[in-house]
Amino acid sequence: MKSDIHPNYQNVSITCSCGNVIETRSTRAEDFLVDVCSKCHPFYTGTQKVADTGGQIDKFKQRFGVISSRKKS
Ligand SMILES: [Zn+2]
Repeated sequence: MKSDIHPNYQNVSITCSCGNVIETRSTRAEDFLVDVCSKCHPFYTGTQKVADTGGQIDKFKQRFGVISSRKKS
């Protein structure tokens, strides 16, 4: 290896919002956080969770749930 041209490749830990910590190596010089990982992503877990932070689903139900309930009666 040539000296002084390679980035520093060192151990870092990636912490997911689910609490899972992944030990790996990176040229990034600090530990970092991710929102989703293979332990909690629905693709791997097979479960589905609704991340409705802004109440968008409730707004949708208020707007369009009324129309569907009118049709039934
Ligand atoms: Zn995770």
